[in-house]
Amino acid sequence: MNIINELKEAFKILPGVGNRTAQRFTFYTIKANKEKIERLSDLLKEVKEKIHPCKICGNPTTEEICPICNNDTRDHSTVLIVENTEDLYQIEATGKFRGVYHILGGHLAPLENITPENLRIKELIDRIENNDIEEIILALNPNTAGEVTSIYLFDLLKKYKDIKITKPSIGLPYGSTIHYLDNYTIMQGISDRKEFKEQ
Ligand SMILES: [Zn+2]
Repeated sequence: MNIINELKEAFKILPGVGNRTAQRFTFYTIKANKEKIERLSDLLKEVKEKIHPCKICGNPTTEEICPICNNDTRDHSTVLIVENTEDLYQIEATGKFRGVYHILGGHLAPLENITPENLRIKELIDRIENNDIEEIILALNPNTAGEVTSIYLFDLLKKYKDIKITKPSIGLPYGSTIHYLDNYTIMQGISDRKEFKEQ
C-alpha cells in the first residue's frame, strides 16, 4: 500500500469517516500548508500522551483531578452518572448543572462482553463510601441499554439509604441518546428529575 492509501485508511478509523471523507482529508493533508498539518499531528500525539482519566470522575484531563472535580463552587454531594465523556460535555454545555459527574465508560452489554467489571462501577462505590454524597442522578442514555444499566446500578446503590437516587424526567425521549438531544431538552430533563423507582 502506498503512503497516500495508508493515510486514507488511517483516517477511516475516525467515527463517521467513510471512504469519500477519508479521501478528502487525505488530499487536504497533501495540499495544506506544512505548519497546519504539523500542528495537527503534534496535537494528536500530545493528547494521547498527556490526557488520562480524572482520578475521581473519569473525565479526560491533563491533571490528576479534572477542573470540574477541583471546583469548590460546585455541589460535590450531587453526582450525575453518564455513560461517556461526550455526554458530560453535552450536559456541561447547558451551564445549568452545578453538581459533579461520574463517567461509567459505557453501558452493560453482555452480548458484547461488557460486564460491570468493564465499567467504572468499583470507582463509583469507592467514591460513595468515602464521600458525603446525597444524591445520585442516573443520567444514562434513554434507551434499552441505558435503562438496563440504570436498573443494575439502582439495585447496587439502594442499600445506601441516605442517598437519593434520581433520574432525569420528561423531555428525554425514549430510544435516543443524550448526544443527540438539544441543550434545552437536557437541561429540562435534569432539572425536573424524579426519584428512580424499582421497575
Ligand atoms: Zn473529575
